[in-house]
Amino acid sequence: MTTNTPIASLRIATPETYDTEALQRLDSAHYLHPFTDHAALRERGARVIVRGEGVYLWDSEGNKIIDGMAGLWCVNAGYGRASIADAVHAQLLQLPFYNSFFNTTNVPAVTLAALLARLAPSQFQHVFFTSSGSEANDTIVRMVRRYWQLAGKPERELIISRRNAYHGSTMAGASLGGMAGMHAQGGLPIPGIVHIGQPNYAEGGRGMSEAEFGLLAAGWLEEKILEAGPDKVAAFIGEPVQGAGGVVIPPATYWPEIQRICDKYDILLVSDEVICGFGRLGTWFGCELMGFQPDLIAFAKGVTSGYVPLGGVLVGGRVAHTLIEQGGDFNHGFTYSGHPAACAAALENLRIIDTERLVERVALETGPHLKACFAALVSHPLVGHAETCGLTAGLNLVRRKGASAHDCEAFPATHAVGMLCRKHMFDNGVIMRAVGDRMIVAPPLSITKVEIDEMVERIGYCLDLTLEEVVRRGWMD
Ligand SMILES: *Cc1c(COP(=O)(O)O)cnc(C)c1O
Repeated sequence: MTTNTPIASLRIATPETYDTEALQRLDSAHYLHPFTDHAALRERGARVIVRGEGVYLWDSEGNKIIDGMAGLWCVNAGYGRASIADAVHAQLLQLPFYNSFFNTTNVPAVTLAALLARLAPSQFQHVFFTSSGSEANDTIVRMVRRYWQLAGKPERELIISRRNAYHGSTMAGASLGGMAGMHAQGGLPIPGIVHIGQPNYAEGGRGMSEAEFGLLAAGWLEEKILEAGPDKVAAFIGEPVQGAGGVVIPPATYWPEIQRICDKYDILLVSDEVICGFGRLGTWFGCELMGFQPDLIAFAKGVTSGYVPLGGVLVGGRVAHTLIEQGGDFNHGFTYSGHPAACAAALENLRIIDTERLVERVALETGPHLKACFAALVSHPLVGHAETCGLTAGLNLVRRKGASAHDCEAFPATHAVGMLCRKHMFDNGVIMRAVGDRMIVAPPLSITKVEIDEMVERIGYCLDLTLEEVVRRGWMD
């Protein structure tokens, strides 16, 4: 921006005044996007999203897009909820901010803490608020180590996570995560965090049943515990279903076996529910579907449907009791822990999810419908296999189909067929995310069966376009 640009011109444009090119110019001149190749984006120009309603978005050119990713796995209640906006507006007028540091509290934070205790599995009666999932996981790293200090075992510092996990992008969050590309930048992981393999049956389960593979993959935890020394291990952390890693749905045998191993060695079990929490899998929390009882839960995203940033940690009885009864000061917190406006947004959002029975609808109606639709997509020549869990799903684009996921032939990674497919989707009014050549969705929980049909129809059309292009490039006969 040149110094003589009038400050008054830098207001949010109204629908009559969008100048897409001007916005793109300002965008590439000043806005460094997260997880983005800035030079490549400058070539293309960013798409300007201007409005949302229900499961639909509109861009500055007037194109209507069905949002198969609920923003970034977070807009669970859908766009355009006036009652959330009203709740935030009222709270901002009443009390826009006050901290919870110095023996003070505020009404929305107290009320939300009580509501979360009511919704969560019964071992959770306490909550620590943050503003994001990354901060929630940073809090967990400090909290589990503080717990073991207080429990008289300060040598229990090691936290075990999984490769291809996503736990956020702060130093601790990215270290807990198992993304090689993130570890390659900035000297990660930080000390005291190690990783085991992920429970990805398609990737590692050749020659065995899903149930057998689930036990095998959980067994990697026990191996790592024995290798490190059980008296050195503080906690194990995992997402019930890995989201950013590509909707990796573990076999049913996996989590109960993880629980058994954590119990056997007295290790804290942490569920990162930033995606799976608040109904995504058809239960309020993913651990309920997967059949395990964590000691700590990280949450964010869906708690406010993304209307205002909020995250936190649900603290189970074992840790809460020790922290409260023996802990004295816990030297950790954020300016915006328990932000009144964010908590007001969460309260109204959770009220919507409850009164519209969105969790139950995912379990009984929309989830099964999405499953049937994705199963049907496997007949497409480009689709090797597809999996769904609740309202999240993934399908693999393959060069040659096989009898099972293990017999498909993948495209060379350099072809980036997933990115090609994603572009066709984006150009044709549907948002799907590409993780390598795995295409994934996680639409708003408010989506109807009719809207799922529309989304899947558009996906099918874009798979056709992708197939044509792949054949034209000679990558497939
Ligand atoms: C998105 C995500 C995070 C990080 O949350 P932010 O709000 O982006 O910091 C952590 N864990 C999981 C499982 C996530 O999907």
